[in-house]
Amino acid sequence: MSMEKLPAVVKPNVDPLKILKGQKALVTGGNSGIGKAVAIALGAAGADVVVNYVSHQEDALKVCDEIKAMGCRAIAIHADVSKEADVLAMYQQMYKEFGTIDILVNNAGLQRDAPLEKMTLEQWNTVVGVDMTGQFLCAREAVKEFKARGVKKEISCAAGKIICMSSVHQMIPWAGHVNYASSKGGIHMLMQSIAQEVAPHRIRVNAIAPGAIRTSINTAAWSTPEAYRSLMTLVPYNRIGEPEDIAHCAVWLSSDYADYITGTTIFIDGGMTLFPGFATGG
Ligand code: BGC
Repeated sequence: MSMEKLPAVVKPNVDPLKILKGQKALVTGGNSGIGKAVAIALGAAGADVVVNYVSHQEDALKVCDEIKAMGCRAIAIHADVSKEADVLAMYQQMYKEFGTIDILVNNAGLQRDAPLEKMTLEQWNTVVGVDMTGQFLCAREAVKEFKARGVKKEISCAAGKIICMSSVHQMIPWAGHVNYASSKGGIHMLMQSIAQEVAPHRIRVNAIAPGAIRTSINTAAWSTPEAYRSLMTLVPYNRIGEPEDIAHCAVWLSSDYADYITGTTIFIDGGMTLFPGFATGG
């Protein structure tokens, strides 16, 4: 094979200490839990970050302060991601402040748990609205900008990156949480279908599927010794996940080190999806 026919050598555009230097990121639900850790980690890696929040502005501002202390820009923007007008206004404000977007972390999510026959339409719609429609709306706006702007080689090999926060419940059915599990199952196809559609434009779309991570969404699952012990029967690695476990992956996945990765879901779950019941049974 002649040299010309060899595939291009991939040269990540990366400063090893600041692998997201100069990139503009938006993290939805960036004021708490996994989103907070992701926003701070992106800032530590050199990105300027929009920290989106829907309530608790003071927490979003604290996250911004942490990012600014590391030498990057950060702004808190209010938006309910399930509302189209809020999302459009958030993007307008981001473009006014930062000029563009390179990384979207579609993180905002919530649970409204109930057994099926007690689940109200409002509980269903709230979860589907934030956890799935919110990701669609934010991804749509990001893709418009990625396509219009294209690749800026000095910033990244890709025209844009989207990370969809999914869950182990995109594959593990979850009784009492049909709204949440349905949304996460939907995120799987949302992510892959968008990834397929936009790959020719050098836009990468991936998902992270966390297992049990220590945040306020699942306090009941880890805050007492009994609950923690019971949770550990589902986690072969035998510890709860921390938000930073997700954040480190999000930084790498949105960097040029991961430039050939699109349409993939990375499970970060201490083995929760390894069917731990079968370790001794079956
Ligand atoms: C849920 C948590 C749950 C975890 C593992 C996550 O997606 O938000 O409440 O503890 O999955 O079941």
